[in-house]
Amino acid sequence: MIQADNLTKSYGPHAVLKGVSLSMKASERVVLCGPSGSGKSTFIRCLNGLETRSGGDIRIAGHALARDCSNVLDLAGEVGMVFQQFNLFPHKTALENLMLAPRRVHRLGRREAAELAMAMLERMRLADKAASYPGQLSGGQQQRVAIARALCMSPKVMLFDEPTSALDPEMVKEVLDVMIDLSREGLTMVIVTHEMGFARNVADRVVFLDGGRIVESAGPQAFFENPQHARTRDFLRQIA
Ligand code: ADP
Ligand code: MG
Repeated sequence: MIQADNLTKSYGPHAVLKGVSLSMKASERVVLCGPSGSGKSTFIRCLNGLETRSGGDIRIAGHALARDCSNVLDLAGEVGMVFQQFNLFPHKTALENLMLAPRRVHRLGRREAAELAMAMLERMRLADKAASYPGQLSGGQQQRVAIARALCMSPKVMLFDEPTSALDPEMVKEVLDVMIDLSREGLTMVIVTHEMGFARNVADRVVFLDGGRIVESAGPQAFFENPQHARTRDFLRQIA
């Protein structure tokens, strides 16, 4: 489902990704962790073509992403992304936020798009918030709207970049819970998070990125109970 080979990315002289490779089967869940500035966001932004890479190859759901990302629209329906900041349109209701992409990209009619949007809001337990504007919703609700919006495109892969980092602590669980639901439904997921309890329960594999390189990659039990590298141990100690 995802095949990234030897990805590199530099901003001017600053090498941010120094040869990152990741291969994922359908329905696999990978949690990506690492210190701030290690390249986690850059890596997943390269995966869905939000960022052009400097080198290496990317295939997602059978599409080879061109180096210049010129064919990024081939991926648009295959890869959904959820950000730390929810990036909802403030002047549109929850329902309208969900209807935009299906109408523009999949050319659905108004009614069809509204039905799809409503079904996704229900899936996120937000049916009663369809007519609310983002500013009228809690952070946890906004993030669930953002997840619902991504799901409206029926993605095969979902990328999450610290989806709970901007939330008040009491809202973290409601977002993690819907992500657990999605993982049970067999969605392929890459999740950047510092929620190590979540990683332990949901990840098939935990990947630790440091200084633009994958330092450690292991199943959750091995990763947390027997990390092989000093840098992984330091990181786990710091966030514990
Ligand atoms: P992480 O998500 O792991 O915190 P990032 O991928 O955001 O790390 O950033 C990795 C490094 O790349 C950081 O040193 C950051 O300053 C740098 N960086 C990220 N985006 C840009 C950009 N658009 N221009 C220049 N440097 C950037
Ligand atoms: Mg980041």
